[in-house]
Amino acid sequence: MSLEEIKSRIANAEAAAGRASGAVQLIAVSKVQPNARVEEVLKQGQRCFGENRVQEAEGKWPMFAETYSGLDLHLIGPLQTNKARAAMELFDTIHSLDRPKLAKTLARLAQELGQCPDLFVQVNTGAEEQKAGVLPENADQFVADCQALDLPIKGLMCIPPVDEEPSLHFALLAKIAARNGLEGLSMGMSSDFETAIALGATHVRVGSAIFGERVKPAE
Ligand SMILES: *Cc1c(COP(=O)(O)O)cnc(C)c1O
Repeated sequence: MSLEEIKSRIANAEAAAGRASGAVQLIAVSKVQPNARVEEVLKQGQRCFGENRVQEAEGKWPMFAETYSGLDLHLIGPLQTNKARAAMELFDTIHSLDRPKLAKTLARLAQELGQCPDLFVQVNTGAEEQKAGVLPENADQFVADCQALDLPIKGLMCIPPVDEEPSLHFALLAKIAARNGLEGLSMGMSSDFETAIALGATHVRVGSAIFGERVKPAE
């Protein structure tokens, strides 16, 4: 599917949900895609991209930044504390803040660097053992703890379980965000971004629908 098609599907979903045009930001997820494919999408004007791994992102985005200005880079995969500094230097937004130790590290580095990317707290809405994120019942406290550390929490992020109806998870995430006064909702991927938009997504993370199937398996 082309970038234009995805953008028009987003616009239609915004309109159908009675939301303002442009209310939803498209994050083109370029992880494990060949650079040539990423460059095609850059040439079509897309500037907002998502990556899962700091190291992989460091291998392509500083290079692309020499040619393409106005990049807006989002880390959407798990972040180890020893990669936190590099992540803060490269990314504009981090969607995977999921534990107290990482919050403390980001807060310390924010002081040191004098800046901090926008942050989303990842919520494990399906309470899946293998998945990152704070449990829904711990989310309010964790958000409050992050805010007490002066971290710029913009919203919440989730990745619904593969075998469940995503809309229940999107609705739960929206409810937790609303009661915490957070406006950002990072939810919806290639297979379900229109559902996510109907339920209030502000950021959709779309990979394979734009770039085609990933050549290598994702993390
Ligand atoms: C890979 C990935 C996506 C994009 O998935 P697609 O199904 O290819 O759209 C979105 N969010 C996260 C966290 C991912 O890891």
